[in-house]
Formats: sequence, C-alpha cells, structure tokens
Amino acid sequence: MQILVPVKRVVDYNVKVRVKPDGSGVELDNVKMAINPFCEIAVEEALRIKEKGHATEVVVASIGPAHCQEQLRSALALGADRAILVQTDSTPEPLTVAKLLKALIDREQPGLCILGKQAIDGDNNQTGQMLAALTGWPQATFASEVTLNDDQAQVTREVDGGMQTLSLKLPAIITTDLRLNEPRYAALPNIMKAKRKPLATLTPEELGIPIEHRLTTLKVDPPPQRSAGIMVESVDALLDKLKNEAKVL
Ligand code: AMP
Repeated sequence: MQILVPVKRVVDYNVKVRVKPDGSGVELDNVKMAINPFCEIAVEEALRIKEKGHATEVVVASIGPAHCQEQLRSALALGADRAILVQTDSTPEPLTVAKLLKALIDREQPGLCILGKQAIDGDNNQTGQMLAALTGWPQATFASEVTLNDDQAQVTREVDGGMQTLSLKLPAIITTDLRLNEPRYAALPNIMKAKRKPLATLTPEELGIPIEHRLTTLKVDPPPQRSAGIMVESVDALLDKLKNEAKVL
C-alpha cells in the first residue's frame, strides 16, 4: 500500500512574520521557509506505518513554486521514498489544492492519504476535508493516534468533550493533530541519500486542473502593538495593580 502525504512549504514557525508595507500580504523575500509542522507530523506518521509493515511506499507531494523542491527533499531525507512537485507560481486556494491532490490520487492510487490538519500560513483547515469530499473516502481529522489493521484504520481524535475513536475503511483521509507524534530529525547520510531519490515534476495543466481564484485578499494587518510593561516596586503593588487595573482577573 502506498501512503500519499501532501506537504506544504510555509514560513518557518520560528520566524516572526512581517506584513508588507502595502498590506497586500506577508513578506516572503529572504525569509526562512520550512515544511508546515503538521505536514512534518504527517510524514512521520506515514513512515512509522511503513516501518510497522503496513505500507510499502511513502510518497510526498507539494503544490507550489519550484522552491518547494527544498521541502520535498527534506521529506525524502526523513525517509519518504519519492516526491512529486505540482509546479505553479500562483498560490492555489484549498479547493484547487484538493482538486490537484484528487488528480494525484487518481494517478497514484494510494491506500491512505495523511495531511496536516492545517497549514500555519493561511490557517485554512480545509484541504483534507475537501479532499475527502472529492474522493468520497472516509475521513478522520485531528488525529492524535492512528493504528492500522488489514483494511481498517483506527483513529483517535481530540474533540472538545475528550477523545473520540473512529474506525475507517481504507482508502481514507487522515489529518494530523499536534500530539500525534514527535517527528524525527534527518541524519546527514539520509540528507545525502535524499538527493538521489526520485522527484517528479508535473503541472496543473498535465493534471487537467486549472488554477482558479475565488477569493481576493483585501488587506493584511499586523497584530496591534502591545504597550510597554512597567516595573513594580513590590508584590503588594503588583497585587494592587492586578486587582484594580487588570482587564481580566
Ligand atoms: P490547509 O487546508 O491550507 O490549512 O492545509 C491543510 C493541509 O493540506 C496541509 O497541512 C497539507 O497537508 C495540505 N496542503 C495544503 N496546501 C498544500 C500545498 N500547496 N501543497 C501540498 N499540500 C498542501
């Protein structure tokens, strides 16, 4: 069984994001980019499933500019077997990403597709759900534990009231929550080996999916500046301020 893992290139989570002066978006020039953290968890989970003998191949796929090859190579260094880049210089919205992934699924015929629950740039949390609708496959979102037996996946999800455990018939869509696993680091020899692993490039046209834009970003504002803190003289002065001046106690 093949596991397909879509990975998105995003601004590294350690970088302080800066809004462009004209408010049209965030600054991406000379900014450190990385695999979206939830996608890294998805790669790790796919690798663990393969290591347990429930899968034979882990394929990672990214949709975006040629630079996405860097993140695909990082995923190959972690242990993925092969990579596919769907190259486009425009920024596809989640529905288009889901349609492109559906076209890849039709080509690749994976038994499982593991996505991040959301990409930390747009915070959309839509692609996995839309892909499940397009494929007609069962879905389990926000997975915090995944177990595979035969043609079933058992997925524990974090929900408001506690934990929910679902059984899904494969093929299925799973999206990862933060506590599912702790991704491994790539060892240097694997980084070297990853350079020789197959990375195929396709275009949206080859997949028969036009890139449509249905949303327009009107403006992006930075969060309001926090006012500077003050030093208090004593614990009593602190308590007094907390009691009388704090907005929420
Ligand atoms: P989103 O719905 O945009 O929050 O993204 C959820 C998940 O969909 C991500 O964690 C990825 O697994 C996948 N995804 C979204 N956009 C892309 C992309 N451009 N390329 C590859 N995977 C993507």
